[in-house]
Amino acid sequence: MHDTSTPTPSARPIRAVVLAGGNVGDTAARLQRAAVLLAERGGRVVQASSQLMTEPWGFEAAGRFVNQAFEIETTLAPEALLDVLQSIERDLGRDRDAEQTERNRTGQRYASRLIDLDLICYGDAVIRTERLTVPHPLMAEREFVLRPMCELVPAWRHPLTGRSVREMLETICTKNETKR
Ligand code: ATP
Ligand code: CA
Ligand code: CA
Repeated sequence: MHDTSTPTPSARPIRAVVLAGGNVGDTAARLQRAAVLLAERGGRVVQASSQLMTEPWGFEAAGRFVNQAFEIETTLAPEALLDVLQSIERDLGRDRDAEQTERNRTGQRYASRLIDLDLICYGDAVIRTERLTVPHPLMAEREFVLRPMCELVPAWRHPLTGRSVREMLETICTKNETKR
């Protein structure tokens, strides 16, 4: 007979990096709140980077972004973790309908937002589903992702390119310098 008193072994914890950002209102306070909710719903927050001010990327907006990376240890499956990230966004006031209206008005790809939580990496997993691409497909192009992430896991290597966070950051910094 099946012994219901035996607990099912919990899944092996995975280290994941979440990049949080926003450019409306008191983003610094919202990032702190996001960290608390991440710990409650996603898993232990192992490390948090400093909060970094950055210019909007890929669109024009009045408000500058504040970005922060969190390394978490989670037993959630990737899509369950995405559900958690989206529930936190909603609970912190992200209004996707308003953003869509704004994108329609401006014709830009992105709109200002109260809070955005992206799953940058999930261990060394490579994931491509309808809802989720991991590692985040634009991570190597974005200094605002790599700089805070480099404070936490500089030696983590992209499973498809083999490049470390530190190397990707150096490349993007050189590119950005030659543009200036
Ligand atoms: P970008 O992904 O370029 O940073 P964004 O963060 O503004 O854009 P959102 O509107 O927040 O985009 O999310 C659009 C969709 O992206 C989400 O509904 C989600 O299903 C999908 N998605 C795919 N991969 C990821 C990922 N790694 N992290 C978070 N969302 C992802
Ligand atoms: Ca994003
Ligand atoms: Ca997002």
